[in-house]
Amino acid sequence: MRQIENFIAGEFVASASGKRFDKHSPLDNRIICSVSEAGRGEVDAAVRAARSALQGEWGGLTTEQRIELLYGVANEITRRFDDFVEAEMSDTGQPEHVMKHVFIPRGAANFKVFADVIKNVASESFQMDTPDGRGALNYSIRRPKGVIGVVCPWNAPFMLMTWKVGPALACGNTVVVKPSEESPQTAALLGEVMNAVGIPKGVYNVVHGFGPDSAGEFVTRHPQVDAITFTGETRTGTAIMKAASEGMRDVSFELGGKNAGIVFADADFEAAVESFSRSVFLNTGQVCLGTERVYVERPIFERFVQALKVKAEAVKYGRPDDHQANYGPLISQEHKQKVLSYYRKAVEEGATLVTGGGVPQMPGELAEGAWVQPTIWTGLPETAAVVQEEIFGPCCHISPFDSEDEVVEKANATDYGLSTTIWTSNLARAHRMAGRIDVGITWINSWFLRDLRTPFGGSKQSGIGREGGVHSLEFYTETRNVCVKL
Ligand code: NAD
Repeated sequence: MRQIENFIAGEFVASASGKRFDKHSPLDNRIICSVSEAGRGEVDAAVRAARSALQGEWGGLTTEQRIELLYGVANEITRRFDDFVEAEMSDTGQPEHVMKHVFIPRGAANFKVFADVIKNVASESFQMDTPDGRGALNYSIRRPKGVIGVVCPWNAPFMLMTWKVGPALACGNTVVVKPSEESPQTAALLGEVMNAVGIPKGVYNVVHGFGPDSAGEFVTRHPQVDAITFTGETRTGTAIMKAASEGMRDVSFELGGKNAGIVFADADFEAAVESFSRSVFLNTGQVCLGTERVYVERPIFERFVQALKVKAEAVKYGRPDDHQANYGPLISQEHKQKVLSYYRKAVEEGATLVTGGGVPQMPGELAEGAWVQPTIWTGLPETAAVVQEEIFGPCCHISPFDSEDEVVEKANATDYGLSTTIWTSNLARAHRMAGRIDVGITWINSWFLRDLRTPFGGSKQSGIGREGGVHSLEFYTETRNVCVKL
């Protein structure tokens, strides 16, 4: 069993209280890590280390020196690629190929991409007229915001954490990271990388624990944390926003979704089915951008339902390193119970169960894991709980539609507004619809294609702010104006 400690001022430290918690494997519920739970004292030490790094060596580096170090971090992650893949597989139970091809390479890329952004970004300037005719020149400068509290989820832990730590450090901030209690390992490994590369002590700190009355709340309530970036559930975002209001701290939020996918009869049918088999079932449905509501134009409705059913029934359950397998468990027993409660609710609400709806028979010790079947329902009204609430599991409800106006109205009839995927060969219609659906990200004839220079975030209750490319600078820097009278 691994021992995971907090990482404060460049040292791995257990909490003074001796409090620890167990991390269980999603595969078979075995205890795989004993994790030190940070108390107020450890969180305070981490925040103080982060602040003194700002005022010390880190704050004194040139942009060029910082960029060099961040390239070093990316290269060291790549050198220790197998360790990161193994740690992330162990925490999440998800297939090795997803770790190798998406989650870990993206984690390394997050340091390079934002180092490049900082290198290339221009500042704004305005010349203005003045009554004496001599004029004035305004220009903006960017300064780091300070100590950033980074609170992360478990669903793609390393990729989502570095998506915040990369730009935060590129902009010259320091961070105190609170990883999810379900995925402590890669955040700890990144501490080793920071030390190996020579990132000054206190720039990157990690405190482990839970949310309320634990490390999450202690970080977000700490008065010396200057701003908070959070990815997770909308309800948690509400609690963090209240904490951030003390001291007027800025927030950047990437929250939940209940994303609609729309398929018109003129779409490339096979490509659409293939894409929905990913957007509904990838990562066992634990993708914030995934599709839980599918709307299919009536002439192809039955055919589409049957085709997606075939895909759902073809998933291969197995351990991450089983190369025949492409489908893992949910993250935890607790999440399994939540997803299964929605599986029951769908039936109670009168859904037609197309496939799944339960727990698969797993061999041997895997029977103790957090496995659930990929599930499809039809026949529910738009008001049903499983059509309105984020389940975050491998499931979707499919309904037919007859017109563009009708499907736009349905897609928008939710408190969330994260992403949508629209399938049609009529590009005029696709562009028109992209402007009408209230989400941060619209994919047309695709899903999950991400250019890291583009703005990423949610509308309505799916988020506040945009991160990605230069958009990340809005949150991770303070822009100041300098006005020079000529
Ligand atoms: P969660 O909100 O339960 O937990 C996220 C983090 O917040 C964890 O580290 C947790 O310990 C911490 N936390 C919980 N309560 C807290 C509190 N009161 N104060 C401070 N910290 C607290 O979310 P999760 O279950 O880990 O992740 C799944 C959710 O994340 C889903 O809703 C999903 O849609 C969302 N998500 C969104 C995006 C996006 O980009 N919009 C990406 C991934 C996941």
